[in-house]
Amino acid sequence: MPKQKFPEAEARLFSRVFICMKCGGRVKASPAKVKARKINCRKCKSKQLRAIHKDRKV
Ligand SMILES: [Zn+2]
Repeated sequence: MPKQKFPEAEARLFSRVFICMKCGGRVKASPAKVKARKINCRKCKSKQLRAIHKDRKV
C-alpha cells in the first residue's frame, strides 16, 4: 500500500513552519510574516528563516 498523503494535513504541518538557519529551531508563523521579516527565532532571535523541506528525510 502506497504511503498516503494528506494535502490538508501537510499544509497544516509544514507550510507554516520555518526553520532557523542559525540554530535549526522550528518557528511557526505565517509565510507572509516571514517574508516581511517580522518573525524572529524564539531561541536565538535570528531572522534568518527558511521554509521546511518536507520531502527531505532526515
Ligand atoms: Zn534560531
